[in-house]
Amino acid sequence: MKRCRQCEQEKPVTEFYSHPWFRDGHDNRCIECWGKTMRGRRTTEPPPADHRPKVREETHPRTGMPESLRYD
Ligand SMILES: [Zn+2]
Repeated sequence: MKRCRQCEQEKPVTEFYSHPWFRDGHDNRCIECWGKTMRGRRTTEPPPADHRPKVREETHPRTGMPESLRYD
């Protein structure tokens, strides 16, 4: 199971797109949230090719931890 950082629901990893550049190999937003983000697109479509993490990781405002470490 993996928690979506947008809707914060725990879902099986099959509900997330595979992304090799994410540490656990899956996007941190679920397919359903991608569907909401990509308005007008079918929810089964993958994210656009230009969706890549920023070079500098965003850090949590309180802990200063990188966002990718938040749900470990
Ligand atoms: Zn979600």
